[in-house]
Amino acid sequence: MTKSDVLVIGSNMIDLISYVDKMPIAGETLEAPEFEMGFGGKGANQAVAAARLGSKVSMITMVGNDAFGQQQLENYKTNDIDITGVGIGTKGSGTAPIFVDKSSDNRILIIKGANSELVPEVLDKYLDLIKDTKLIVLQQEIPLETNYRAIDLANEYGIPVLLNPAPGNKDLDISHVTKVDFFTPNETELAILTKMPTDTLSEIKAAAHHLNELGVKNVIVTLGSKGALWVHDDEEQIIDSIKVKAIDTTGAGDSFIGAFSHFYTSGEDIPTALYHANEYAAVTVTRRGTQKSYPTAAEFKSILISE
Ligand code: AMP
Repeated sequence: MTKSDVLVIGSNMIDLISYVDKMPIAGETLEAPEFEMGFGGKGANQAVAAARLGSKVSMITMVGNDAFGQQQLENYKTNDIDITGVGIGTKGSGTAPIFVDKSSDNRILIIKGANSELVPEVLDKYLDLIKDTKLIVLQQEIPLETNYRAIDLANEYGIPVLLNPAPGNKDLDISHVTKVDFFTPNETELAILTKMPTDTLSEIKAAAHHLNELGVKNVIVTLGSKGALWVHDDEEQIIDSIKVKAIDTTGAGDSFIGAFSHFYTSGEDIPTALYHANEYAAVTVTRRGTQKSYPTAAEFKSILISE
């Protein structure tokens, strides 16, 4: 097993996107004009973003014992992601049927499938991967107990951990959050954990400072087009995003986390890595799709130069 820059322990999904003129009612069959399949899942998205930027990325994840699982494996290989830690479960692959109507409103179902088989004991098979990385990156589409075990192992081995608490889960236990190095909620996820209001910037700052006072070292709140707020050691800093014409923000949060992980483990200090992560995520919102919208390092550089 080889040393990685970034180890993502998390989910993968196959997005099944139907573009509909109208949603059928019970008992009705309608024709829809278009269908698209895409690779998704927060863990896989973050891994792909970091890998496309040039990080050496490993993943611990579970795919299904089906054709989608094989396609996921192919996708990791295409993106140069090490698959030593990818297991094949007994359930089907995680899937996300998505319905997009004419006004771009989304209706999304998540079937976790094999992702729910990534239980804490699975991590014991991959201790070498966990010991030998610069950063462990976690999200919340796998069982919370697995994340808790990952945090404990990382603390034991002295490896920094980033926890992206998405999607928000009211059962997340703050006693584990204080053991991570980077906690990266959006406004909604911050409200779920702190039970504080986060409707205005001053409320967001108050909630982030509250977590910092409880012992969370670096609280990074993503603020959409406004960039990100970084709170640490009682101090705060807003790192502005760059102004772009957004056409599809799906997966922007994941691209931000993957890019931050890449730039931070490449040796940049935290505010510089956040600035570059904002730039990367801003580019992705100008393109359609999730992983499809994530540029490689070369593309990213050429887009920035030409602007
Ligand atoms: P969010 O999850 O919506 O807070 O977005 C995550 C990150 O994506 C933000 O911190 C920004 O870096 C970037 N981002 C999202 N939406 C936009 C936008 N409309 N313009 C520029 N950057 C964006």
